[in-house]
Amino acid sequence: MGAKEDFSTPVRPQPGPAPARPGAAGLLLHVAKNFRLAQSEADLCARVTEALAHKLGYRRALLLLKDGAGLRPCSLHWPGGDAPALLAALQAHPPSLRAGAMVYESFALGRALPLSVGQDEFFNPQVDRLWGLGRELALAPLFSEREFLGALAAERPEGQAGPWVEEDLNLLEAVATLAGALLGSLRLYGELERKNREMEIHLRELTVVSELTRILNRAKEPAEMARQMLLLLAHALEADFGFLFWFNFKASELRLVGSHGLGPELQGAWEILPRMDPRLLDSLAGQDDPAPSGEELRGLLPGLEGPALLRVIATRQRAMGLWGLGRWDQLRPFASGEERVLATADEQMTVALNSMRLRLVAATDSLTGLFTRAHFMEALEQEIRLARFLGHPLGLLLIDADNFKAINDNHGHQAGDQVLSALGRALQACTRGGDICARIGGEEFAVILPRCDLEAAGAAAEKIRAQVAGQVTTYRGRSLSVTVSLGVALLDPGQPLSRDELIRRADQALYRAKRGGRDRVETFSPGQDDAAWGSLS
Ligand code: GH3
Ligand code: MG
Ligand code: MG
Repeated sequence: MGAKEDFSTPVRPQPGPAPARPGAAGLLLHVAKNFRLAQSEADLCARVTEALAHKLGYRRALLLLKDGAGLRPCSLHWPGGDAPALLAALQAHPPSLRAGAMVYESFALGRALPLSVGQDEFFNPQVDRLWGLGRELALAPLFSEREFLGALAAERPEGQAGPWVEEDLNLLEAVATLAGALLGSLRLYGELERKNREMEIHLRELTVVSELTRILNRAKEPAEMARQMLLLLAHALEADFGFLFWFNFKASELRLVGSHGLGPELQGAWEILPRMDPRLLDSLAGQDDPAPSGEELRGLLPGLEGPALLRVIATRQRAMGLWGLGRWDQLRPFASGEERVLATADEQMTVALNSMRLRLVAATDSLTGLFTRAHFMEALEQEIRLARFLGHPLGLLLIDADNFKAINDNHGHQAGDQVLSALGRALQACTRGGDICARIGGEEFAVILPRCDLEAAGAAAEKIRAQVAGQVTTYRGRSLSVTVSLGVALLDPGQPLSRDELIRRADQALYRAKRGGRDRVETFSPGQDDAAWGSLS
């Protein structure tokens, strides 16, 4: 190669014949407008070689882009030649960046030059041979504002022989200048768009995480938490449905705790999933070794089709449940960014569930399974606040087992415990889901009835009384029965009644029930009870 030649000053040919085509400015304007329509880098490159060949009359055109250490052919217009073979040869022997740098250097002034002036080894000989007319090529560098991007090569216009004319070189240079500037801005725009998308994903993640924290902090029990969380995540990740199961290892089954968008069929089929593979449940229950695969987890959920993200809920390496999100559309798989959001949610939820479970254990009376006195006091305070806010009345029942001492005395303490446990079950059976049943003393109970008027509270009390009176507990072959006395008090939302005052009123009514002969319900009435209470204190 002409290594000893000096490329620092561009060597231009002597002025040749008259311009090859008239109206070059108009043509250039036309191609410039056409370039601006380019949607992508590849599209722009194709438009450039196309314009050179079809609009500006060059016979052949090739656009090479800087790629790593070499120049990669990006678009080619080469009629009559074996274009695929040339492309393959160019791919296999790309002009090196050294050659590119040579072009860069020799075109330091940004000029287009005929390849024949010294850079004839720009291409590999094999490429040169394929092209066949290598010496008739001119090269123009592609620059953006910031960097060297590649080179544009063209062959002289149709019907021309002899040296390149100034006008043709100028036109090639103008096209290269324009293409370089547009390529640069397309890349910049692409980079900005990519960064923007990343920012959007991060922002979405942050919003989801902060909203999730709010939900998890407020949730009182798993079903409510699951429903709200699934709703939020399904919305944020554009999932069609979400579900959360609890494992019941003893029964080898999964129970649906909460769901969103499952549809009636899956909702029904998944309510309880019995007869799980015990080995799989064992592997879930134990250490993460071996961790169940996504496919194994999918296998737990019959009828699950389409893309799904599944997570095992585990605390201290013990699996507690399984949850996930899904899409009906097979063609919309979840992206890794979306999986990351789910993993973050999973961590947060596990912490929340764990503390919820601990709180629940602490608030539960072990003999009856009802809430403890401490929880009752706290819950009553909250329910009163809520009732005032919503403008609903609230009922309170205080319940005391009648002559309970006799049961202990006659049958023993254990028999008494058995009866207390049965009393707990009776309370739960006679109340609604939102009612709060607590054991507040030895053989004393309370029920908070949110959104309940005096009539309904009286009816609930009577239902409990009748249920207990009709119920028999068997202990060591003996049939034990007990009755209860109940006092009812009502919170009218308009009335400034404190928690302790409400309890005091129910207690007064209970006292009247005891005095009236037991196994009965009494409702607080200001005239009677205040007098009775007054006589006691
Ligand atoms: P009444 O309420 O109808 O006036 O009579 P009572 O016999 O139920 O009343 P009292 O308050 O005198 O006795 C309550 C008894 O409940 C005394 C106590 O031994 C018993 N008791 C309290 N807690 C437990 C418990 O956890 N287990 C058992 N077996 N008995 C308990
Ligand atoms: Mg008592
Ligand atoms: Mg009693």
